Amino acid sequence: MKKKFLKSFLACSLLFFFSHSTYGWGFWGHKKINHMACFTLPPGMVGFYKSHIDFITDHAVDPDNRRYSNKAEPPRHYLDADHYGDHPFDSLPKFWKDAVAKYSEDTLNAYGINPWYITKMMFSLTESFKDKDVDKILYYSANIGHYIADGHVPLHCTENYNGQMTGQVGIHAFWESRIPELSGDHYDFLVGRCMYIPKVQLYTWTFIEASFAALDSVFRFEKELGRTFPPDKKFSFEQVGNKTQKVYSADYAKAYEDMLSGMVERRLRASVFDVGSLWYTAWVNAGSPDLDSIGRNDLSDEMKKKLEEEEKASHAGEVKEIHGH
Ligand SMILES: [Zn+2]
Repeated sequence: MKKKFLKSFLACSLLFFFSHSTYGWGFWGHKKINHMACFTLPPGMVGFYKSHIDFITDHAVDPDNRRYSNKAEPPRHYLDADHYGDHPFDSLPKFWKDAVAKYSEDTLNAYGINPWYITKMMFSLTESFKDKDVDKILYYSANIGHYIADGHVPLHCTENYNGQMTGQVGIHAFWESRIPELSGDHYDFLVGRCMYIPKVQLYTWTFIEASFAALDSVFRFEKELGRTFPPDKKFSFEQVGNKTQKVYSADYAKAYEDMLSGMVERRLRASVFDVGSLWYTAWVNAGSPDLDSIGRNDLSDEMKKKLEEEEKASHAGEVKEIHGH
């Protein structure tokens, strides 16, 4: 009886463990990135974003919630670059049309479309600024912030996204959620003023390539640590609401973070800077419209209704099993 209980207990905790791994940065990280990106903006924008900072922060996680209810959503969060060889960036076309011509849309969707999708969203955000459409500016700002942040996570750039090919299952949530949640309060999120990005289509690839380059350390250091760390101290159990969750212990997380020499903090800081910079770039490309005149406008009732419906749909889908990143 006891054994049976223990078995089902472990199954439950592991299930939670895996489903948690489907999120990018974790809710805490995504919200923090969008929030802090508002403080990188120049005078013509910062007032508008500060007036709506709660919306921009809270809705940073909408794309992850949508993954349960929208089939088109998952590939927007990652790019399995290693599917395209050891030196994928030599062969992967940076422009969507060229990539479709070379690999087909089905293949691209199967292995993730993150950098191309960010470029697509930039067009929508730029148009929203041109129209001075409060609903759309806020919607696209919050959403694009999420995708940009996901592109900064090394484990969003590999088919081995959860260490399942190297005996490191769980590493995804460990790196991107557990570590920031444990250490994030001590990180420095003030990254200074954002910058204008002249060629967005090429820029999105710079952070994907940096994420990809970091993968070697992400896997190698965890492997090394796993070999040397006392096995009985590697995991702990934590109570989250009425669930018991199996998590990497704080000591194990600290040791790993030390080996990574601040990599998680650096990728978070780069996310904040790039989110602010791409918002700013869209605004400049739209002709730097005056946002003060619309700064205090609230979302339309129509938009509020749409978001409520989206949230309901995401809750209804929560019981479904999600595969992938
Ligand atoms: Zn995501």
